[in-house]
Amino acid sequence: MARLIDGKAVSRQVRDEVRADVARWCEAGHESPGLATVLVGDDPASAVYVSNKQKACAEVGIEGFSHHLPADSAQDEVTSLLAELGGDPRVSGILLQLPTPEQIDGSHLTTLIAPAKDVDGLTPLSAGLLAKGLPGLRPCTPSGCLELLRRYEVPLQGAEAVVVGRSDLVGKPVAALLLAEHATVTICHSRTRDLAAVCRRADVLIAAVGRPQMVKGDWIKPGATVIDVGINRTDEGLVGDVEFGSASEVAGLITPVPGGVGPMTIAMLLRNTLLAARAQAGDDAAVKVGAAGARG
Ligand code: NAP
Repeated sequence: MARLIDGKAVSRQVRDEVRADVARWCEAGHESPGLATVLVGDDPASAVYVSNKQKACAEVGIEGFSHHLPADSAQDEVTSLLAELGGDPRVSGILLQLPTPEQIDGSHLTTLIAPAKDVDGLTPLSAGLLAKGLPGLRPCTPSGCLELLRRYEVPLQGAEAVVVGRSDLVGKPVAALLLAEHATVTICHSRTRDLAAVCRRADVLIAAVGRPQMVKGDWIKPGATVIDVGINRTDEGLVGDVEFGSASEVAGLITPVPGGVGPMTIAMLLRNTLLAARAQAGDDAAVKVGAAGARG
């Protein structure tokens, strides 16, 4: 029976570390790091995500700046706000909550976020830095997956890692982070032939598909580590992309849903906001930590 990877506990540890680091940073005479969230429109789920991020900031001593624009805002208004936040010294990190209303091109707006404040790690510059193994701010959910692997001491060097999913948000960056840790990485997607056979090779299997319980127990190599990024709302409640019951009989380590990868995203956002503040203040060590995953 697989051992559970407790994402809630690890997330709490990371938040506690960030809280202590923020306190030390402020004691050294620096301003509190600041996170600006930009929410456009009234999507209830997005409003909950943003308010959770703001609450988490307050808990660790990061100042929150919450911007809520009406659903009928014009693209130019959001562009101006992002530019203003880019120039505001109190703001260390900027987060544009997606999805945006139809008339707003959210993915284009993401590219306008000041690179030094890109705490979501989703701008083309951050993606390019990650692809090249250069220091930069890494996307939060993928770096949360790596943090879980690190804290549970899962060997990555030379390991076969299979990532199911190739989105810019999860699949591609998590694959790049695993590669930087010297895993042998295979990325699968909807056109992959015999997905089950490819998954069966994995010492570390990351499922980021968005299809409820698609990955079955007999796709898993005995003793493998399974990280389930999926969050799917079904009639039976929240489930991942992995069929947890059958998978946990075969895997060595596995994340539950909920309580696995989910809680890590906000923790990594807080850590990124502190890193961004330190890097903006010229702290070279922060810039190097930003390269996490590119260790020799
Ligand atoms: P996405 O953009 O929809 O990407 C899904 C990927 O899965 C695509 O690359 C797609 O392949 C692939 N795929 C779809 N059907 C497949 C199949 N039958 N066989 C193999 N591959 C298949 O989703 P995402 O944004 O990466 O999110 C993935 C999941 O993670 C979702 O459940 C989402 O809710 C969850 N998520 C959780 C967090 C968190 O925990 N905080 C954060 C982000 C996302 P193609 O490229 O060929 O279409």
